[in-house]
Amino acid sequence: MSSPSTVYFITGAGRGIGLGLTSTLAARPDVLVFAGARAPEKADALNALAKETGRVVVVKIDTTSDEDHKAAAELVKEKAGRVDVVIANAGIAEGWGPIATAPLDLYTRHFETNVVGPLRLYQSLAPLLQASTKPQFLGMSSTIGSNTLRIPMLTAPYGVSKAALSHLVVKMHVEGEKDNLTAWVTHPGLVGSDMGAEAARQVKEALGVDVPTITVEESVTGLLKLIDNATRESVGGKFVQYDGAELPW
Ligand code: NDP
Repeated sequence: MSSPSTVYFITGAGRGIGLGLTSTLAARPDVLVFAGARAPEKADALNALAKETGRVVVVKIDTTSDEDHKAAAELVKEKAGRVDVVIANAGIAEGWGPIATAPLDLYTRHFETNVVGPLRLYQSLAPLLQASTKPQFLGMSSTIGSNTLRIPMLTAPYGVSKAALSHLVVKMHVEGEKDNLTAWVTHPGLVGSDMGAEAARQVKEALGVDVPTITVEESVTGLLKLIDNATRESVGGKFVQYDGAELPW
């Protein structure tokens, strides 16, 4: 392939929203997508996309591993020399229940995966983002991490981690001005992936409330429209959901 028009790096690409983003992008003719998975040898859908399109490179990324990030950055440097769009998508939402009884180690686990993971990703890819003329870093946050929206999701460790992620990414945006970096966070919608379906089930069980989910396709269509048109002015430093609505912190 001649030099790709856009080089993407997506973590947690083996299922859910990450897989939806990767497969939609891989259908574009002139892109290169580095698709992160914890166990590439088991990532059947990604390996099939890599084989079919030649535009997907499956990369081993556990968000908690320094070695994985170092090796991934070397691979991107060797194959593309830059990265244009980084999507910190991998995340966990585990353990549901009231704040009064949530085990404390759940907080540290969520912080390590959902906050330190994206930070590790940013730090390891920063030189390759700087090699792009239009660098973008997207953090997959959540309305559950908003301090002002009152959403009954019964998962404080997850909410706290997403609030911290939002803070971190806004600071990246401020600091990244000299590199023309557009850093922003999104809420992908309540998506009927493994995570979103479980969230809807938990809310129903605890509160008796039905919360509708959207499909991965709906979420990805909206997100890619925003990603494709992202500038420092449009979404930079903001919290914007998949359909373009700006959300309160
Ligand atoms: P899923 O639970 O369906 O998928 C999570 C993905 O993250 C999987 O690919 C999983 O990999 C990966 N992952 C988890 N832990 C790690 C880790 N330590 N290292 C590397 N990869 C890891 O989630 P969704 O697709 O629904 O969510 C994607 C993102 O969107 C998440 O950050 C989530 O918090 C956010 N979000 C989702 C919402 C929803 O309604 N679904 C709503 C708001 C935000 P593996 O297959 O190996 O487990």
